[in-house]
Amino acid sequence: MDITSFTYDALPGRIVFGDGILAERLPAELDLLGASRVLLISEGERPEATAPVLELLGERLAGHFDRVRMHVPAGVADAATEAANACDADVLLSFGGGSSTGTAKIVALRSGLPILAVPTTYAGSEVTPVWGLTTDARKETGRAPVVLPRTVLYDTALTATLPAAMAVASGFNAMAHSVEALWTELANPVTSALALEAVRALATGLRGITADPQDAEARRLLGYGSYLSGSCFGVAGSGLHHKLCHVLGGTFDLPHAQTHAVVLPYVLAVNAPTMGADAARLADALGADDAARGLRELAVLTGAPTRLADLGLRAEDLALAEEVTAAKLPIHNPTPVDRALIRDLLRHAFEGSETP
Ligand code: NAD
Repeated sequence: MDITSFTYDALPGRIVFGDGILAERLPAELDLLGASRVLLISEGERPEATAPVLELLGERLAGHFDRVRMHVPAGVADAATEAANACDADVLLSFGGGSSTGTAKIVALRSGLPILAVPTTYAGSEVTPVWGLTTDARKETGRAPVVLPRTVLYDTALTATLPAAMAVASGFNAMAHSVEALWTELANPVTSALALEAVRALATGLRGITADPQDAEARRLLGYGSYLSGSCFGVAGSGLHHKLCHVLGGTFDLPHAQTHAVVLPYVLAVNAPTMGADAARLADALGADDAARGLRELAVLTGAPTRLADLGLRAEDLALAEEVTAAKLPIHNPTPVDRALIRDLLRHAFEGSETP
């Protein structure tokens, strides 16, 4: 690892991590933020999950916005902002996966309100200053300190209800944050060290939930790994992998976590030969002899999706996906990226070919 010189923009934030801690810790964490009028932002699909949160909020509940959608469509963002204004909220409480966190982030961007995030997947958005908004089928992302949640409460018991396939895909979403953090332009020795620790925890956790989806230690490892991965991504930023996934999500509405799970092994296969010593470190963290093969084997073992075709992308979409991604060139990457490489990557990930 090269420590000759580096720049590391450390991010602030209070992390509260534990198993079954929501009821015990949420009120005190809201007190610390001085919350008296809270807008709860969550998905509407799981009312049984939000019921205890509503109860814990009691009189502090000023409003509840429960119409979040993946990739934060502009109409959803506008409605959530209106809800915050209408109830005169002083704190935003996001409860749910990256879609809930992402919606709260746009409201924070527009209002300056602080966020307390309670994540229930491994998306990692809760520890990044990155927001995303989709307008007319184009996903725009940006960075702003105000969208970084002030407090993140990780209660790993909340992930017990994740369907096995979603837990695996979300674990791969976290894996993508840490693997890509090894090669982005802003990667540094600190983010690389965290990223490798994250990969180790995630790989062990993914094997654990595959053997037993209710394995509490495996879910703790995934929660811990997702936190570390999100922190790496928040500092090291996005590269080729994330740019491809943002196009696939924003333009074709493909499911976020599953898209990451499919694309990552292909991007890693392209980069492993040019990553230098990090390739061996990554292989070791994955518990494998070879990083790209190891990740691919983990995907097969865990039953992660392996073809974009299975996620709803059509062959005729590939040209537009290539064009929208190519518009983001130049892309900093260990292996030089040109339009032909983007085309090949998309084609291989679409077909689920053995090797890119
Ligand atoms: P999500 O929030 O839409 O959740 C996916 C599905 O899982 C939903 O159907 C939801 O109902 C269900 N779910 C969530 N938690 C559950 C639980 N504990 N038990 C049972 N079901 C549960 O998706 P996601 O993958 O968590 O997040 C994806 C979104 O987050 C995308 O919009 C993506 O762009 C964004 N994201 C942003 C960043 C960032 O730094 N800005 C990072 C990662 C992801």
